[in-house]
Amino acid sequence: MKNIVLFGPPGAGKGTQADILKEKYQLVHISTGDVFRYNIKNKTELGLLAKTFMDKGDLVPDEVTIHMLEAEVTKNSNANGFIFDGFPRTESQAEALDAFLASKGERINGMVALEVPEDLLVGRLLERGKTSGRSDDTDESKIRNRFNEYNTKTAILKDFYQRKGNYYGVNGVGSIEDITERLSEVFNTL
Ligand code: AMP
Repeated sequence: MKNIVLFGPPGAGKGTQADILKEKYQLVHISTGDVFRYNIKNKTELGLLAKTFMDKGDLVPDEVTIHMLEAEVTKNSNANGFIFDGFPRTESQAEALDAFLASKGERINGMVALEVPEDLLVGRLLERGKTSGRSDDTDESKIRNRFNEYNTKTAILKDFYQRKGNYYGVNGVGSIEDITERLSEVFNTL
């Protein structure tokens, strides 16, 4: 299996690229943000809980998120591999993912990160908010809080995967096609 963590700050283009790469490499794309939004739309218990955190731009608690991710992987037991988008976002999520995959004789082949300067991202998110219908994309204070969560809890995962020799940074500024090409160069080696 090819199991890849597509990494990067909010607005880096993970979802856009994952949609293209899942077809190209025949992988299952799991976006934890999308799964939460689906649950919110369908007013499930999980959705109601997640909404209280997401509305503020806070991370949903690890226990809830890890459980949900494991259920999504288990649902796709015939997959060739996965693109994880928006997960892991904390060190304990990364550890849980490693342990979960190891229990299936699998591992993360690489963390592929879209590197984009933060000042470009706020503008991108506000622009996306005009059409995404996401309340966490329209309010600048919520956006700032999401970056704060990213910088304090998530960015350290670069070190986590770098220690394992598993981190691949890619320039995330440019056209969608150019960035897909850069990501593909890395995917091909994993
Ligand atoms: P995203 O669509 O990846 O930007 O995620 C939107 C929101 O969903 C985040 O701001 C968090 O509130 C929540 N979320 C998504 N993935 C995770 C995760 N791995 N851990 C905790 N919260 C998450």
